[in-house]
Amino acid sequence: MNYYSTNHKVAPVDLKHAVTKGLADDNGLFMPENINAFDAAFFKRLPQLSFQEIAYEVALKFFGDDVEHARLKALVYDALNFDCPLVPVQQNIYSLELFHGPTLAFKDVGARFMARLLAYFLEKSDKKVNVLVATSGDTGSAVANGFLGVEGIHVYVLYPKGKVSAIQEVQFTTLGQNISALEIDGTFDDCQRLVKSAFLDQALNQKLTLTSANSINVARFLPQAFYYFNAIARNPLPDKEVVIAVPSGNFGNLTAGLFAKRMGLPVHRFIAANNENDIVYQYLKTGKYIPRSSVQTIANAMDVGDPSNFVRILDLYKNDHAAISADIAGFRYTDAQISETLGRVYKECGYLLDPHGACGYQALEDSLTENQVGIFLETAHPAKFTETVESIVGVGEVPLPNKLAAFMKGEKQSIGLDKEYATFRDYLMEKAD
Ligand SMILES: *Cc1c(COP(=O)(O)O)cnc(C)c1O
Repeated sequence: MNYYSTNHKVAPVDLKHAVTKGLADDNGLFMPENINAFDAAFFKRLPQLSFQEIAYEVALKFFGDDVEHARLKALVYDALNFDCPLVPVQQNIYSLELFHGPTLAFKDVGARFMARLLAYFLEKSDKKVNVLVATSGDTGSAVANGFLGVEGIHVYVLYPKGKVSAIQEVQFTTLGQNISALEIDGTFDDCQRLVKSAFLDQALNQKLTLTSANSINVARFLPQAFYYFNAIARNPLPDKEVVIAVPSGNFGNLTAGLFAKRMGLPVHRFIAANNENDIVYQYLKTGKYIPRSSVQTIANAMDVGDPSNFVRILDLYKNDHAAISADIAGFRYTDAQISETLGRVYKECGYLLDPHGACGYQALEDSLTENQVGIFLETAHPAKFTETVESIVGVGEVPLPNKLAAFMKGEKQSIGLDKEYATFRDYLMEKAD
């Protein structure tokens, strides 16, 4: 299948090109030319399938023309060696726990899949590929761990100095091997700008093969559709309308859900749950998309002022605000509201949310009707935000999972850079090959 650019100024490319380039030459994001729907028979047998089986069937719809099926199956099963269970929280509200992977966040799914797909495409090449990734916290750890030790690939993680939690930081600064952590004196948006500038820099691209592992890469973004199918498969209340709430920052996760719906997945409506960075919430209300600088919140992986995947949503719906608003409802929460939800749900239900999942949960509480069941994506384990979560529910209430404890023993190795593009370019020119 070919992939076109959301800017429509360059010819469509094949999957290998889209995955290795990340961003189209006209600066647009790649979109698959077709979205292959499932038939009714598939949805009948869906509840009988395991998560891995479901993921493989969905992967075939996306990548079946471009990857040998036996290899695709192996790749999917290897990437998804953990479950995404649906756990009850309230009568009609369920948590889709996406934090059972190695770095305890949903980004493990896309990152692990992408690392394996890229390695598959590189098998017959002797070129080294440099993956550039900007992170506001969880992307860096998921990508770094997903790619750790993968032959022929070097990963550069750019993160904003002082703006990611200590637990997030150790997950990408202690790895060594083919992973370099770059601590940028700026914001997440600065990191993202540096990465985008590098991709548009012709001289740099002549010397180095660069690719992106941000959620803009189709190999990271499309696999996120897998677990929406798993949510429907595991839903114990199939006779009710399903509403899925997605804590959103760069909007890759939600966009993958919209693709799943186009493939026939019975989702009545999606909810985009924002923190105070409510650009999309405002768009849904007014029809105007006005990006602005991000502000820092306790749900920091959603502190994004100009969500990069939003153009995919506009493209998917041909800029039709009414159609977008029919499929997506917007909610936004302040830090105070997030804290209140997190504390109350722990006290009343014994379920410990993380600050991102709390936005999704609250949006369901604020909107579900009698005949609806709500599923929110629990995008990270609460222990990834221990300081914030313990300040709400009490010190000592958040046990440190073994996977995270292991990271804490490592030694931080990172390189400090200012936010000027020239500094970053010079660094790459000198270090990368
Ligand atoms: C990345 C992230 C989000 C936002 O996901 P997008 O796909 O960028 O919208 C939400 N929660 C957590 C914990 C994350 O790491």
